[in-house]
Amino acid sequence: DTSHGPILYVEDISVSFDGFKALNNLNLYVNDGELRCIIGPNGAGKTTMMDVITGKTQPDTGSVWFGQRINLLKQSEHSIARGGIGRKFQKPTIFEALSVFENLELASAGSKRVWSTLLHDLSSLQRDRIDEVLELIGLQELVRRDAGELSHGQKQWLEIGMLLMQNPRVLLVDEPVAGMTGEEVEKTAELLTSLAGKHSVIVVEHDMAFVRSIARTVTVLHQGSVLAEGSMDQVQNDPKVVEVYLGE
Ligand code: ADP
Repeated sequence: DTSHGPILYVEDISVSFDGFKALNNLNLYVNDGELRCIIGPNGAGKTTMMDVITGKTQPDTGSVWFGQRINLLKQSEHSIARGGIGRKFQKPTIFEALSVFENLELASAGSKRVWSTLLHDLSSLQRDRIDEVLELIGLQELVRRDAGELSHGQKQWLEIGMLLMQNPRVLLVDEPVAGMTGEEVEKTAELLTSLAGKHSVIVVEHDMAFVRSIARTVTVLHQGSVLAEGSMDQVQNDPKVVEVYLGE
């Protein structure tokens, strides 16, 4: 779906660590509302790419644009997170001793005095958003449960829910289905698919069956650059891609 125009331009990004090029003239264009999967063998540069987009790593060359006007390389990691780019790491950072509801409540405070938000009444807007997010992540029934008692998959969905409280335009999701049961994988596919449209979702994932089930466009990274891009069928039949994966 390219009707919305680009939301994220990654242009000619290079990053070196001690002379080793982790990213080598990387280009990536993601449209508003798109669900994009990024695959590639270990060491291809996927994590480094996400680090550059989220302001954690400064590249040696290139630029990253959010929409037409905002140069992300001039922004701090903190302001990028607050400005509309949410990132979900593999390991959840939920508060295990608090309930599902309280976790979402804290997330709605963003980076303001987080703990003190639990002492105040929620605005009706915040309450509505929590209800909306609970429905999206399918945890309505578990709203009073301590987050620490959730299953592995439920914890991952709660963390996605916490990011959604900030209403990000772009959501970066790192290996969402690692360690999940088959049923959890299916639910995660539904969740990420339902988020596309309202948000751009960029998923880095090794599980090819999962990628096939959600992706419209797949970008294959290799040695810090884009090796191939297209539908899952296109990239899987690309001889360059076959060679890289056979050699792994
Ligand atoms: P992927 O996420 O695709 O597995 P990474 O982005 O983690 O790839 O890594 C790309 C390459 O850069 C790897 O060879 C890795 O060893 C190297 N690399 C990543 N981060 C650092 C770092 N902080 N210092 C040195 N080398 C790094």
